[in-house]
Amino acid sequence: RRVEVPASVHRIDPSLLDDRAVKVVTTLQDAGFEAYIVGGAVRDLLLGHRPKDFDVATNATPEQVKGLFRRAFIIGRRFRIVHVVHGRGREHEVIEVSTFRAYLDPAAAEQVEGNEKTSRAALADKSHVVDASGRVLRDNVWGPQDEDAARRDFTVNALYYDPRRRIVVDYHDGIADARARVLRMIGDPVTRYREDPVRIIRVVRFAAKLGFEIEPGTREPIRACAELLSAVPASRMFDEMIKLLQTGHSLASLEELRKQGLHSGIFPILDAVLDDAHRHDGREQFIQRALADTDRRVGESKPVAPSFMLACMLWHDVVRRADELRARGEPPVPALQQAIDAVFDARIGDISGRGKLAADMREIWMMQPRFERRTPSAALSLAAQPRFRAGFDFLRLRADTGEADADLAHWWERFSTADDSLRETLLAEAR
Ligand code: ATP
Ligand code: MG
Repeated sequence: RRVEVPASVHRIDPSLLDDRAVKVVTTLQDAGFEAYIVGGAVRDLLLGHRPKDFDVATNATPEQVKGLFRRAFIIGRRFRIVHVVHGRGREHEVIEVSTFRAYLDPAAAEQVEGNEKTSRAALADKSHVVDASGRVLRDNVWGPQDEDAARRDFTVNALYYDPRRRIVVDYHDGIADARARVLRMIGDPVTRYREDPVRIIRVVRFAAKLGFEIEPGTREPIRACAELLSAVPASRMFDEMIKLLQTGHSLASLEELRKQGLHSGIFPILDAVLDDAHRHDGREQFIQRALADTDRRVGESKPVAPSFMLACMLWHDVVRRADELRARGEPPVPALQQAIDAVFDARIGDISGRGKLAADMREIWMMQPRFERRTPSAALSLAAQPRFRAGFDFLRLRADTGEADADLAHWWERFSTADDSLRETLLAEAR
């Protein structure tokens, strides 16, 4: 049932809209297509928040969309969409445009069984594919808007806003659920978790971020469906972990994971943090502090680096392993290096494609012992490192939680901002 909700009812404030997103919608409409702002942006607008990014849904195919914009790129295989890019460099903005998708009955879809290799061969040229457990491996069959709405996850995520007519199109009573602050899965929750187990993590993220209740029918199957997450590729789980930590509500997200019984055995990174055998080495306080800082920064719209956050999450695991290696006679620097390799292996897995992130984490960690050395040449070269700031912020966090010397952190604070003559004084002081 398609309901068109007028502005007098939805009360979206047009000044919260992004001009470029509106322009993408009107360009598509002027070319004769249907186009709407969709998903999280509409949900945030309804709640009176300024959305951090805008997605657009249309009945134009990716090729047709691409043809209408100067800088537009078709991306993705599992889920093909178009990135329309505005501006350059740091200021650039990407509007994601997706074509309305059909909602296909999982039972009717092309099934792939067997191992990874045959699945991949069977994937060629197919636009909709599910595996034996009902997990959707590819979703590129275009369809009408009502089906596009039905294949979205939660009712509050399935709303469409037309900025020209100022109406919200609502098929699943999403506006009522937004008012009631409820997350409700569209359709049968178990089927929907089977199609894409990551929805289990998404519901937790949205509950923490929005402060919404999870509707009982949506909540109850979570625990039983959690084992489905083991079929999700590690790289996608890793991305979801980063999203959980960057919502600006990371502490609430961890709390919600715990509430739903998802805090252990799901994310190797969290297992490193919550590891009961080693919970008395100060890691909890350290991580609480790091996450609280991250949440505050997100709240102030400051950037947060995933590398810094992950370096915090895994630090105690690195230290413990390095200590073990040193106890067996390994010198400090190689011990730290080997410990880092082992932690990447155990907690992140394949880091190909994340070279930069891993390199940044490694740099932050490898800098820590270097803060202990304050000879003139060592100190000057450390302070001149391009990633000095991240390494220093990390040291300060360690000092704030009693793991590193507070005077040392203070010394580096002064040294890093000092002019040449003050630096000489400080170096003499450190001798
Ligand atoms: P955020 O504010 O975190 O970006 P969002 O709702 O915009 O939240 P996205 O991951 O950006 O989330 O996805 C955009 C929209 O696409 C969602 O609102 C939802 O309608 C749909 N969607 C995304 N992922 C899924 C999924 N796994 N299953 C079903 N629908 C999804
Ligand atoms: Mg979004």
